[in-house]
Amino acid sequence: MSLPLKKTQYIWMNGKFIHWDDAKIHVLTHGLHYGSGIFEGIRCYPLDNGELSIFKLKEHINRLFESAHHYQMNIPYSKIDLINVCQDLIKKNKLKDCYIRPIAWRAYQENGENWGSLGVNPFTSPVEIAITAWNWPSYGASIYKCLTSQWTRISPSALPMKAKATGQYINSVLAWKDLVNMTKIHQQAGLIQKNDDGTPQYSFEAIMLDQNGYVCEGTGENIFIVKNDVMYTPPPDATILLGITRDTVLTMAKDLGFKIVERNLTLADLYVADELFMTGTAAEVKPVIEVDSRVINDGVPGKITETLRETYSQIVRGKNKKYNTWLTIIK
Ligand code: PMP
Repeated sequence: MSLPLKKTQYIWMNGKFIHWDDAKIHVLTHGLHYGSGIFEGIRCYPLDNGELSIFKLKEHINRLFESAHHYQMNIPYSKIDLINVCQDLIKKNKLKDCYIRPIAWRAYQENGENWGSLGVNPFTSPVEIAITAWNWPSYGASIYKCLTSQWTRISPSALPMKAKATGQYINSVLAWKDLVNMTKIHQQAGLIQKNDDGTPQYSFEAIMLDQNGYVCEGTGENIFIVKNDVMYTPPPDATILLGITRDTVLTMAKDLGFKIVERNLTLADLYVADELFMTGTAAEVKPVIEVDSRVINDGVPGKITETLRETYSQIVRGKNKKYNTWLTIIK
């Protein structure tokens, strides 16, 4: 997913709210050279009563600290500090429907006035942190068509796949080349119509497979299928990021009485699925109607997918009281 963003006034960086254009880092930043950064993507939604609510903020901040732990980075603030900053940043920027991006990275090490250092060793580089937020109403395509990536997902024996680390995304970045090419082909052929609200009817997303050919995830989403009224998704020990939306959907589905099985999936399972959808903070619950030019079932979002999409949309907007503990209301 890649959507345009509009600058805001303030970014919080290393303990201070500074102007957007001043949020800069040195070109010798360790994280830039060696991918040593960890981050989160969080959403804030307006509620009917005019209040704003950040969805599963604590869970996201917990995962940020876990990612940092995987890479032995000490974030120089507490979880509570960051939870408060996210809320203050939204207030200061007068945002509503917005996306929040905390990121911490190994910085450039300066040793006095005329000396610095650079090398793979991370432990000489200080950890810096910033939180940015910008308006992000749901304006991406409402449906995905998927392509299997030619690039295998990074192995869990190579990197901690439960960490949301900047360097790990270079694997997903590779998968995007085919998506961009395919989008151009479809645009030029006039295939991608616009919805009434001006959004494209569909966009492309990749499906990444592991070294044994099992389905892992998209470049920024987890994957679910429905077959004969049973939901399936790769298990927690698969090569996936343990998505917070994945967890939300599993809880919702259980509460709705749907049967769920966490097991490895193959591409063949996907091709003959009754329904297929992806989940993520940005994507929310997104139906997939095609994989590798094979139409999924009858090519329209399935019933269970639509139920979960609608339920999710209600929950994040505080319309389902049962799940209000997942909301952080900004005061
Ligand atoms: N997998 C990957 C690789 C992702 O980048 C994301 C987005 N963070 C997800 C899955 C979904 O995670 P979440 O539901 O926590 O946004």
